[in-house]
Amino acid sequence: MQYSKMFIPTLKDSPADAEVVSHKLMVRAGMIRQVASGIYTILPMGLRVLRKVEQIIREEMDRIDSQETFLPSVQPAELWQESGRWDFYGKELLRFKDRHGREFCYGPTHEEIITDIVRKEVKSYKKLPLILYQIQTKFRDEVRPRYGIMRGREFMMKDAYSFHTDDASAKETYQKMAVAYENIFNRCGLGFKMVVADSGTIGGNFSHEFAVLADSGEDHIGFCDSCDYASNLERAEARAPSPAQDTPKLDNLKEVSTPGKKSVQEVAEFLSVLPQQIVKTIVMDSDQGLVAGLVRGDREINPIKLKNLIGAEWIRSADPKAISEETGIPLGFVGPVGLKLKVFADREVEASNNFVTGANKTDAHFTGVQINRDFKAEQIGDIRMVIEGDPCPKCASGTYQVKRGIEVGHIFILGTKYSKSMKAHFLDLNGKENPMVMGCYGVGVGRTAAAAIEQNHDEKGIIWPVPIAPFAVHIIPTNYSQDAVKKASDSAYKILQERNIEVLLDDRTDRMGVKLNDADLLGMPLQIIIGPKNIESGKVEVKVRKTGVSELHDFPQVLENIPAILKDLVS
Ligand code: ATP
Ligand code: MG
Repeated sequence: MQYSKMFIPTLKDSPADAEVVSHKLMVRAGMIRQVASGIYTILPMGLRVLRKVEQIIREEMDRIDSQETFLPSVQPAELWQESGRWDFYGKELLRFKDRHGREFCYGPTHEEIITDIVRKEVKSYKKLPLILYQIQTKFRDEVRPRYGIMRGREFMMKDAYSFHTDDASAKETYQKMAVAYENIFNRCGLGFKMVVADSGTIGGNFSHEFAVLADSGEDHIGFCDSCDYASNLERAEARAPSPAQDTPKLDNLKEVSTPGKKSVQEVAEFLSVLPQQIVKTIVMDSDQGLVAGLVRGDREINPIKLKNLIGAEWIRSADPKAISEETGIPLGFVGPVGLKLKVFADREVEASNNFVTGANKTDAHFTGVQINRDFKAEQIGDIRMVIEGDPCPKCASGTYQVKRGIEVGHIFILGTKYSKSMKAHFLDLNGKENPMVMGCYGVGVGRTAAAAIEQNHDEKGIIWPVPIAPFAVHIIPTNYSQDAVKKASDSAYKILQERNIEVLLDDRTDRMGVKLNDADLLGMPLQIIIGPKNIESGKVEVKVRKTGVSELHDFPQVLENIPAILKDLVS
């Protein structure tokens, strides 16, 4: 493509609201423009990247017999009422009525639509498993759209859905998807981790997110510095505490006065104990009512792990007023001894003795508290947040590192949630009717492209990984009106195109500095800089955008080597 013909509205300055580098650079490089909050036009330079990401996704989906379909983005309310999500989904779901007053929504995801088609068309175990996918525009009325197309309201997603006769078949497809996803993100040139994610009430390790490690990420990822264990922090397991070596001398329960001392820090200082000798009682609200979680004073509770331990649908911080009203205990002095709520304790609390807790009345704490003697826990489990430096739960030698990550993909076994509510049944070998077991698998196309920029840029601009670059090579004639330069540039352009290499030729008459700056901003992996002096002696400059290293090569012989140089950049 010739630069002069292409629509590349580059900008000197970033938009004022752009917080992250990918947003800034995508706008500056003329890839995207905002139309309304979280709604973007994708311009030609941007679309070239998204199409490359899509193509990689297509190839990897096809490889595992996942078949491309195209589902409607406008979905009737009835299907969502059947699945029960019409009421549940809340304000993220964009709802509207047609001219007859019938209710619809713009699909934020497509479980209902796909389950509807499969239940109508697939009746027998002989047609299963079945994997279908699409690449579609989604709309989610996000509370805080930001970061450009990384968290838009309208965005492109590849979503796949699988249907199975049983769990074993679903798990098999899940493993294949995991491999396909690893291939996709590897091929896009991304550094990522496959992390254990929350699978809600389904349990087991059948929900993984693919997280691109980047400081701008919204998620926190805990991963081992030695083995391949990685988890979303909300699910990250703590290693079980080692049992005490000696039997400790058990103190008696004693109430002590702690006037005005509420926080762990205040109580620890006042009683001259370490924070880990205190046990915090955190009261949470859930669909099972108020529950109390116990963790050591130097730890934080992990609400998701607590939710999964108690088997709740949802959990959130309890309103302090509700706590005082229901328990009659002032905040800051709640403790497990004599508490009327169900108590769930972290394993470290079980491994502790002689600890300090609130005494369930104003200005008082207990010392010498023992679990099982002074109070009973409904259940003991792993409910604390892990932190950097904690020992890895999987291997003997590693410790946790915590970094930020961008979730670019998510794979999930749904079980029979939708097939039961929407009656997607099949007849098994014995003619018996069963609900299908389902899985769903998503990749954010735009978010993947943005994440690639987060990982690959410098102060001058984007540094595209070769497989998703808009063009592989950018030819920059320093003075296109000079005959020899023009001739060499045009011929390089033609020869590379004949070799099926995508080339952008900067045929503009702008100053050299402008062109070189634009080339660095746009970020094509290889630049061929053709100037009058060099070409006179049969040379051109080949610059690798990533390293900035520029070398003189014989022209036109160097064109033979371009495929090899590009290949080297991929590995
Ligand atoms: P998040 O927690 O970031 O909101 P999600 O859990 O809602 O993501 P899924 O429903 O699993 O995401 O969607 C699958 C994929 O779609 C995500 O992994 C992500 O890449 C992409 N995605 C989700 N929401 C957005 C958005 N608002 N803008 C761009 N991409 C998105
Ligand atoms: Mg979301």
